[in-house]
Amino acid sequence: MDPAVRVAVREAPLRRHFQNNNNKNQTATIALNPQRTVHYPPDCNNALVVDGTVYSFDHVFERGVSQAKLYEELIHPLILKVLSGHNCTALAYGQTGTGKSYSMGLSLDAEYLDDEHIGVVPRCLADIFDGLAASQENAESTDVSASFIEIYNENVYDLLASAEAPVLIRVQKFSGSTRKPIRNQNEFRELLIQGTASRHVRSTNMNANSSRSHAIFTIHVRNARLNIVDLAGSEGLRRTGHEGVARTEGVHINQGLLCINRVLLAMSAGNRVIPYRDSVLTTALQESLNCQSYFTLLACISSEPCDLSETNSTLRFAKNAKQLKLTPQQNQL
Ligand code: ADP
Ligand code: MG
Repeated sequence: MDPAVRVAVREAPLRRHFQNNNNKNQTATIALNPQRTVHYPPDCNNALVVDGTVYSFDHVFERGVSQAKLYEELIHPLILKVLSGHNCTALAYGQTGTGKSYSMGLSLDAEYLDDEHIGVVPRCLADIFDGLAASQENAESTDVSASFIEIYNENVYDLLASAEAPVLIRVQKFSGSTRKPIRNQNEFRELLIQGTASRHVRSTNMNANSSRSHAIFTIHVRNARLNIVDLAGSEGLRRTGHEGVARTEGVHINQGLLCINRVLLAMSAGNRVIPYRDSVLTTALQESLNCQSYFTLLACISSEPCDLSETNSTLRFAKNAKQLKLTPQQNQL
């Protein structure tokens, strides 16, 4: 039986390497960076060593791994689940700049639209379309639609409701966010462009904006949904500390990240009460982050020495997530 919870780590390209070498000469960069903080024990699969601590996960994707391999190993198993009626969530967590949006396929970088670079969402859609075509069901049950929301400062915005601006929706109305049909990759692309253009703009700098908000792209198929979640950058967590911290704006922005950690811990401990309602993010994910669903975490990390504490904190989050045990019933349809 497929495990219902899978946790993976992906190491991002080095920023200097990325900026200076345009991703061409990896070996030279490793030689230039003897102090990389992430190491892989040669005799041990799916493990990594950071700061003297050995971590093992379901998958460890070393720097330079292809988008195709990451998708096939980590995400593709969810397609079968969603097609058989299970709700699934794939969540990208990590500090800003570690490739969360790139991995999930929610980045609009024009240079990343080719087969090599496209990310998780368009690959999922391709497999869902193929899966539905193969199963020869009647047209009605094979409709695929998508919704796209943003959570910013504990507010939810429907990114597909209007072509120009994010539309604030009430927390209770998540399920009522706009759903648009998707029949092919072009339609996905249009929705992504529309949704990205509508993202809440607090700063004129799109990077600063997107690193402070959570984006959830949901593919609805049959009666199930697959949530692809591109979380806000986790770096603020270290600066603002952990639970019980003063109620600063930083806390507000990171409320969702703190709560998702608490929800995972409460579920792992088998608590009867799971604190979904403590944040808008966890409220939004409640229906697909429960014992009946499949959960996949992609923790994105940097091996730059200056990012060491963020890397440690991301790995701690991933380790907590690994404690989670979900037991969805088979054959939900
Ligand atoms: P995040 O969403 O975590 O802030 P991004 O996905 O925006 O990070 O990635 C930062 C930059 O690095 C982007 O320009 C992105 O396209 C690039 N990038 C990230 N990961 C990779 C990778 N594995 N290969 C090539 N480029 C990458
Ligand atoms: Mg991003």
